[in-house]
Amino acid sequence: MNLLSAKYSVHVEICLKPNQNRLETLEELLDAPMREYLSMVKVPLGESVKVEGSTFESNSGLKELQFVESILIECEAKHIGEFLNDADLRHLILHFYCPHRRVMELETFDVESGDAGDGDAVPASSHWLLPSNSFLHLWENLIYEDGLKEKLLKFALSALIFSQHSVNPHIISCNRLLLLHGPPGTGKTSLCKALAQKLAIRVRRTFRHTHLIEINSHSLFSKWFSESGKLVMRLFAKIREIVIDPNNLVCVLIDEVESLAYARDCMSGQEPKDAMRVVNALLTQLDAIKEHPNVLILATSNLAETIDLAFLDRADIKQYIGLPSAAAVKRIYVTMLTEMMRIGIINEQSLTEDERHEGLLSALAERSNGLSGRTLRKLPFLAHAVHTASSDYDLDGKIRLSDFLDAMLAALEQHHCDQKLMKN
Ligand code: ADP
Repeated sequence: MNLLSAKYSVHVEICLKPNQNRLETLEELLDAPMREYLSMVKVPLGESVKVEGSTFESNSGLKELQFVESILIECEAKHIGEFLNDADLRHLILHFYCPHRRVMELETFDVESGDAGDGDAVPASSHWLLPSNSFLHLWENLIYEDGLKEKLLKFALSALIFSQHSVNPHIISCNRLLLLHGPPGTGKTSLCKALAQKLAIRVRRTFRHTHLIEINSHSLFSKWFSESGKLVMRLFAKIREIVIDPNNLVCVLIDEVESLAYARDCMSGQEPKDAMRVVNALLTQLDAIKEHPNVLILATSNLAETIDLAFLDRADIKQYIGLPSAAAVKRIYVTMLTEMMRIGIINEQSLTEDERHEGLLSALAERSNGLSGRTLRKLPFLAHAVHTASSDYDLDGKIRLSDFLDAMLAALEQHHCDQKLMKN
């Protein structure tokens, strides 16, 4: 088993179309044609790219590529958008995968509501088998400063290697617990999910199956103190059933982990013992579950300063995720506008070669200082509404790029006004 690759490696993630064949069979069948394809075609790094039908229709040696949906090439030593050269082709590592199409399963537990003895279904956790269709392209669409995502991936791989080698915990401490903290809407939860998906693709030779289990800490800790302790036990009993199989990698996601601290604060309130029991039960269960070498715990927090100290102590890495930089904001805008062109709502035109477009894009990025990724991602929708309300809107035609950029600026100004009014 080797989870790490050589320093200079070119990872090629090959997403397959749904099909009846075993993955191992396809892997063997597609290895040579895929390498040949990569030597013939220029594919930009860091972008998911479809394999064009024309390539395999006109070349019988490549006909197996009909099974391929898209490919993503990544190389740490190169920048996004760069192309591979001939020397790079000697360092290819191919990762084939066929995403699961089954949607997430919500695990609920029935608890007494207390009033008339009626039962209430509490959403305790969500469960995905990875790689999942739900998280396709999530990783490459999360935009941060260079190297941040790769650093997290390396950390996760190192943590798994340490546990696979049964490192003595009395000599070296490694809890396999990663905490992402920072302002709301900066992509922390999405990044945890994308990281789990990435691991599922990259470590398939070591772990045949990867599971992502998101613990719904809100419902466990906010309202159900009297039942929460029992819920935690039941939830972890379920997780243990999966973890017991060493072929499974289990990523446990605890979103907004500050609700643990909130639960402790409530100890001075009505039901102090229950609150204390829940937090302790969760910490004990987490400690027990991480004894298994195939578990990785991912946690997020919007308020790191209020996180339960006992939990904070357990984190091996605490990564701050801040608001996007000016360069990241611009890249987020470019991805959104490219998507609007792909789906045919706006005209296909170059964003950077035209001076007017470039100017509008820079103005947008400048006025977006201080906004979270979540707010930015809503702007195209708001801008579309602004544009369709204007007299320029032509129901049958595509929107001109410059008109849409104008509408984006108008929607952005409207957002700033609304924010001011909410603060007053
Ligand atoms: P958080 O957990 O930090 O509150 P989420 O993971 O819920 O944030 O992200 C909210 C939305 O904002 C997601 O759709 C995500 O894709 C988007 N988003 C946030 N930050 C970024 C970023 N840096 N790059 C791209 N998208 C982002």
